[in-house]
Amino acid sequence: MEGDEIMTKATIEEKQYLVRFKADKESHLKITDQSICLENCPDKPCTYFCPGEVYKFEGNRIQVGYEGCHECGSCRIGCPQNNIEWKYPKGGHGVIFQLA
Ligand code: SF4
Ligand code: SF4
Repeated sequence: MEGDEIMTKATIEEKQYLVRFKADKESHLKITDQSICLENCPDKPCTYFCPGEVYKFEGNRIQVGYEGCHECGSCRIGCPQNNIEWKYPKGGHGVIFQLA
């Protein structure tokens, strides 16, 4: 109908496209003990709950791509072994959300 606006919802991929990062040289995320990941965490939920896909299990260890962290804080509560040390990036670094 004339005059009607069709509203479309942005997909998560479209929203992710608006996210920018200013990465620090040092990681603000740390796995406390890699042997816990290897031996006591069969499901490795960090590899799927993190919206930034920061955690990847490669070569028998969790690799941490901290540069893509969205600072949502989920890994502080999502790791069943409490094995992730999380803090905000240093001032002036980290995620930049753009509205468009
Ligand atoms: S969820 Fe925690 S313990 Fe499990 S693999 Fe990830 S960091 Fe390691
Ligand atoms: S704070 Fe969120 S985006 Fe960053 S590593 Fe943890 S779960 Fe991933």
